[in-house]
Amino acid sequence: MSFFSTRGGSCVTASQAVLRGLAPDGGLFVPVMFPQVSPQKIAALGEMSYQRRALEILKLFLEDFSLAEIQDAVDAAYGPDRFDDPAIAPLKRLDDQTWVLELFHGPTLAFKDMALQLLPHLTTLSARKNGENREVAILVATSGDTGKAALEGFRDVPGTSCTVFYPLDGVSDVQRLQMVTTAGANTHVIAVKGNFDDAQTGVKELFSSPDFATEMDRRGKVLSSANSINFGRLVPQVVYYFSAYTDLVAQGAVRCGDPVNFCVPTGNFGNILAAYYAREMGLPVGKLICASNRNNVLTDFFSSGIYSTHRIFFKTKSPSMDILVSSNLERLLFEVADRDGALVKTWMDLLKKCGSYSVGDQRREWLENIFWGGCADDNATLAEIGARFQQDHYLLDTHTAVASNVLRQYRAAKNDATPTVLVSTASPYKFARDVLSGIAGPDAAENLDAFACSAELEKRSGVPMPESVRRLRDLPVRHRAECGTDGMGPAVLAEFD
Ligand SMILES: *Cc1c(COP(=O)(O)O)cnc(C)c1O
Repeated sequence: MSFFSTRGGSCVTASQAVLRGLAPDGGLFVPVMFPQVSPQKIAALGEMSYQRRALEILKLFLEDFSLAEIQDAVDAAYGPDRFDDPAIAPLKRLDDQTWVLELFHGPTLAFKDMALQLLPHLTTLSARKNGENREVAILVATSGDTGKAALEGFRDVPGTSCTVFYPLDGVSDVQRLQMVTTAGANTHVIAVKGNFDDAQTGVKELFSSPDFATEMDRRGKVLSSANSINFGRLVPQVVYYFSAYTDLVAQGAVRCGDPVNFCVPTGNFGNILAAYYAREMGLPVGKLICASNRNNVLTDFFSSGIYSTHRIFFKTKSPSMDILVSSNLERLLFEVADRDGALVKTWMDLLKKCGSYSVGDQRREWLENIFWGGCADDNATLAEIGARFQQDHYLLDTHTAVASNVLRQYRAAKNDATPTVLVSTASPYKFARDVLSGIAGPDAAENLDAFACSAELEKRSGVPMPESVRRLRDLPVRHRAECGTDGMGPAVLAEFD
């Protein structure tokens, strides 16, 4: 399988796509075609462990990796020491029509672990395959969860380092503590005085700066990305859509071949894009429901065909979805444009120069057949947490609660009874303060610190607190660096000098 850029250029192998992250023309690497998975094969996946399912899907894309290499990487990534549930991505029944796909059983309690436990293995293998002897320096901009997941994935992996930028006031207490307490000799964490888009833009600029590359090279390092624009992040996410479907078949909830909807809490459009890829590979997917918080740029995009960043940026209780420029949408645009890279480039240039573009009515209708966009604000989110806990005895985190609310809006609007998988992206304990307010009212969390909120949440909900949250309190802070939005390059170099 070869990969080319969404803007038309390049033709590289899978390992080169993983190593480079972004294409030289600024586009994102996409596979030249979608490998097909037959209905027989989908049925066969039902008999397999998660690890084996991962091998079967990954090998379709990672053609310049040997089976043994993929197998070893998968075993290391999804081992019992990493995930606290042997199913890795367990599917829980909520009601007759709704299942929850829990993607938060990894070491950092968010779905980013699904990809970032595997990516370091793919990265080091890719470096070796391409004769790269320099240290692979990972740079990441995070809206909260990616940062810790990348740090945990790359921590002490030989031949790599991992530097994370997070928005100073844009992450939860637990998210920040998780990052600044990270151990490992090769981990670096820097707070940026700005929002997530500032951090992401800054990292993109570093990746396209020849001067910065030279400075890093002088220090024996080559840049690589672990952001969700990296194809190595996307492909592990395709696996759990197949896995969820095949679990539904095994549970007798659907017959193999019948459609299933997925409702995904969305920020950078990586997770839901993986669902779209699974659909293109032959998975029977009905609708993909794209759930946003108050930063509802995608909701507007799906209803109008216009993507516009001329809007206010809101800080919400689902911070990992506080995004105005959804990078991975470019991969969907490439399909919308019928794989015309020049057209994608036009749209992206417009976005950069004017802050908006329109795909036109015909293309909007094409999108409407597959996607439905909806949004929920903070009040609706907290109310949803309360309602699901009281009625279904299920504890949602704030991000998944956005999706749960949007799913109910979708059903009310479309009367669609297709079995639906609600994709759950974080443990409720990662956002304990807000989840506690959701089930017990705003006063319940008042005057409590992050740890007391978690303890109170455990007491009231009966849902056990993950060990890693309990341990957080006793870990020393190891990372204190800060920088302005224009000082990110020097801040990285300062870490290495
Ligand atoms: C990253 C993240 C999201 C958004 O996922 P995208 O792939 O960026 O759309 C949603 N919820 C949580 C908890 C996350 O960490």
